Amino acid sequence: MTGPNNAIGCATSDGKLADVAVLGAGMLGVSSALELVRRGKTVVLIDKSAPGEETSYGNAGVIYRGSMMPLNTPQLLRALPGLLKNKSNGLRYNPAHIARHPGRFLRFLWEARESSTLRRSKALGSLLDRSIERHLALSKEAGEADRIRHLGWLKLYRTEKSFHGSAWERKVFRESGLKISVLDPAEIADLEPGLKPIYHRGVLFDETWIADDPGMVTKAYADTFTGLGGRLVQQPVGGLRREGDRWRILGEDGVIAEAAAVVLALGPWSDRFLATLGLTLPMIHERGAHREFVIEGEPPVSRSITDIDGGFAFTPMRGRMRLTCGVRIDSHKAPPSTVQLDLVEAAVKQAVDLGPRTNKADWHGARPTLPDCIPAIGRLPLPDLWLATGNQHMGFASGPASGELLADLLTGRKPAIDPAPFDPARFRLS
Ligand SMILES: Cc1cc2nc3c(=O)[nH]c(=O)nc-3n(C[C@H](O)[C@H](O)[C@H](O)COP(=O)(O)OP(=O)(O)OC[C@H]3O[C@@H](n4cnc5c(N)ncnc54)[C@H](O)[C@@H]3O)c2cc1C
Repeated sequence: MTGPNNAIGCATSDGKLADVAVLGAGMLGVSSALELVRRGKTVVLIDKSAPGEETSYGNAGVIYRGSMMPLNTPQLLRALPGLLKNKSNGLRYNPAHIARHPGRFLRFLWEARESSTLRRSKALGSLLDRSIERHLALSKEAGEADRIRHLGWLKLYRTEKSFHGSAWERKVFRESGLKISVLDPAEIADLEPGLKPIYHRGVLFDETWIADDPGMVTKAYADTFTGLGGRLVQQPVGGLRREGDRWRILGEDGVIAEAAAVVLALGPWSDRFLATLGLTLPMIHERGAHREFVIEGEPPVSRSITDIDGGFAFTPMRGRMRLTCGVRIDSHKAPPSTVQLDLVEAAVKQAVDLGPRTNKADWHGARPTLPDCIPAIGRLPLPDLWLATGNQHMGFASGPASGELLADLLTGRKPAIDPAPFDPARFRLS
């Protein structure tokens, strides 16, 4: 398994020119690097940590087509008056941060209108459909097929008001061919006997796969990359310098590597890195966190559940339960906060008998989101520079197809899906 010990960490460049350097070894970077190596490119994948140790580790591991529904929808607009009180477990914000970037947040709200939401969910659906296929194939190829489990996902509503508030989303899911079943309290109890009878309705998304450890799955795909001859370097990247026909990738002690082309897949760090190249990516950092609990006997639920009123997701991982809280929109540099985690721990205790916390510390991170909630995959306005980021709440699920799209575009192949909605040029970057 890939880790600091078998990562090929080299202090300085070996002087060889790689075809492509991929910066960032989360699900997006690993998938891009793997697909590029398959297309015959020499690839160096560089990360400050071992693969899959940041956002691609901390997420809930849910892989499902329903993630085609972006955060900014007509439903969000309707809920906005309540959300402005800034007391919801599911979505909070730092008003000063929003005031510093009015343009990107106004665009986020503008995109929430129905016509834009339907167009965007279609694009996201195409990426997810392809990605689910790729996850199943990649996990098998890596010898880790049992890590991606077909468990299903259950969305739960405590009140008629909140269930009714999501009617629009269910209509869109059904029209797009997604199989969903609405459950009453007795059916919820049949399906998940560990749940206390506090739910008014449930919606079951049977076609959902759950990773038992998203970080380990990312590492397994990175192992496939190195197995195919890709080179992995563990070092922080400080910047890029263009010299003649190549990019020099700069580290603390000099040049880490040289490559004809560079792919930036730096997740929530992407905007800060692009700023060093004079490019502005209007990223919204949806801060998030998880806390883990010991499973005593049987897991309290057998599939991932999301409690809409409680503002949490609760997911069985390998040997432990992972509780993820909702979103806090804030600067990526703002200190982590446990306010929402503490609130959702109290909320999940209303739903299940919760085991003790594991001895692992809380994890804090950020979903890398763009104002239209569509990833940015494609060419940047500098020579031989490419971008793969902005996969918001569904980057673990959609990473493999995003990497495939990036590799197809970079090598001039016809992509499996329409690349137009994902073009970074839809933002004025320079
Ligand atoms: C609480 C939470 C729950 C989520 N749940 C889900 C879910 O259930 N399903 C789903 O599909 N998605 C989920 N997501 C979203 C998903 O986790 C992300 O979209 C995805 O992991 C992003 O992957 P990435 O490769 O773009 O970024 P990352 O995984 O963050 O990778 C970026 C990499 O860049 C590296 N890096 C940054 N700067 C430098 C530098 N200067 N030098 C070298 N390396 C650098 C970092 O070390 C990191 O490894 C969730 C996110 C959160 C926060």
